[in-house]
Amino acid sequence: AAFTLGLTGGIGSGKTTVANLFADLGASLVDTDLLAHQLTSPSGIAIPDIIRQFGQDFIQQDGAMDRAKMREQVFGHPEEKARLEAILHPLIRSETEKAARAATGSYIIFVVPLLVESGSWKSRVSRVLVVDCPEQTQIQRVMSRNGLSEQQVRAIMAAQVSRETRLQAADDVIANEGDISQISAQVRDLHAKYLKLAESAKT
Ligand code: ATP
Repeated sequence: AAFTLGLTGGIGSGKTTVANLFADLGASLVDTDLLAHQLTSPSGIAIPDIIRQFGQDFIQQDGAMDRAKMREQVFGHPEEKARLEAILHPLIRSETEKAARAATGSYIIFVVPLLVESGSWKSRVSRVLVVDCPEQTQIQRVMSRNGLSEQQVRAIMAAQVSRETRLQAADDVIANEGDISQISAQVRDLHAKYLKLAESAKT
């Protein structure tokens, strides 16, 4: 089977920053968050099922899912959340596979924020790369990028696995602290290793 990488990390750890450095070197990125978002945008392929399951009330004027309303519907209601996920998860899976088939890079990187949390992803990729930084750094980055309070960032982090649990799932780790040249050097080394693995997976 072809070599694929799953890239993950907590909120604000630097997944996008690191993924883009790999893309600069020739890897193909499949952004699962972006694909998931597209499913429920206007004319997204999940919209008909959402109308069938939840009703037209959950669709905005522009044809997109009403995210705020859906968030309210599923918050604290595991059975409603499961009903939504039963629609979205198979579609995310088929869309990411489609994107992977169309990719032309030297290997594929699935960028999956909740890779460790969602279980099945780990078995779908050849290797897991965790982008890691201290929690205090995550908090500072997300506070300044999104204008959130420390408490709000901590609440998001509380819904994700701990730094230790995520690191335990890692085959490789990038320490995303310090300036970009330090990150680039780590990316270059790993890319060389992944190219070799991709090459030997072909034979
Ligand atoms: P999210 O989970 O919220 O999508 P992410 O893990 O993709 O985040 P990025 O968007 O790459 O993280 O980075 C979060 C913020 O921190 C961005 O504003 C980014 O510019 C900044 N950042 C990332 N890495 C570094 C670094 N090494 N030094 C300084 N700032 C950084």
